[in-house]
Amino acid sequence: MALKKLVAGNWKMHGMSGDIAEIEAIARTARDYPQVDVALCVPAILIERAARAVDLPIGGQDVHFAEQGAHTGCISAKMLRDAGAKLTIVGHSERRDAQRESDEEVKAKAEAALACGLDVILCIGESLAVREAGSAVEIVCAQLAASLPRQADPNRLAIAYEPIWAIGTGKIPTMAEIAEMHAALRRQLQEAYGADGADVRILYGGSVKASNASEIFAVPDVDGALVGGASLKQADFIPIVAAA
Ligand code: PGA
Repeated sequence: MALKKLVAGNWKMHGMSGDIAEIEAIARTARDYPQVDVALCVPAILIERAARAVDLPIGGQDVHFAEQGAHTGCISAKMLRDAGAKLTIVGHSERRDAQRESDEEVKAKAEAALACGLDVILCIGESLAVREAGSAVEIVCAQLAASLPRQADPNRLAIAYEPIWAIGTGKIPTMAEIAEMHAALRRQLQEAYGADGADVRILYGGSVKASNASEIFAVPDVDGALVGGASLKQADFIPIVAAA
């Protein structure tokens, strides 16, 4: 049975308090698509205002694995929840790269967030060099194995497969490449979680737009999308939700 699709926006380091109106517009129009789960992951300082303003699930883009303590500049899962977040992204490739986040750290973050009641979107994906070397499936599956939380309610965890070379570039893999990767990830989720592994949503991310969303969503085991640039404006984002 097909899983209910999840289309999540990742605003990255975009958005100021004045953009709450855009979040409201997205939330208002997303209501026309109750057959799709829609969420927006916004900069941490916007979470509280956004969560108060709309009934759409608002999420963070990262979380610390510790509950509290001497971690200057970091935010705990409890703090995200306290601000009104319902979910968080962990392990985005921009953080794995710039903040040198390891698989072990990403796993600890996912476990901390889940334990605190936040849903999790766990990101994985290969570099262009890995794709060109022909080892994308092997490398991404290894990344998943090492970052996957030990236990998870399948309804509260989603995996986002995001080829690094597709993020913000306008390039996407072929549909056959997406199908091959998602099938491999599905097998691995079933190995890790048994029957529950069939219910964990596997999102595709990387240059998803209204013009390519339909064909991507038609690929088996694509259970939604994590959308960066095209999630910033209601006019770009909602057609993607409609395509799901
Ligand atoms: P993009 O970003 O849609 O702008 O390519 C996706 C992501 O990084 O999550």
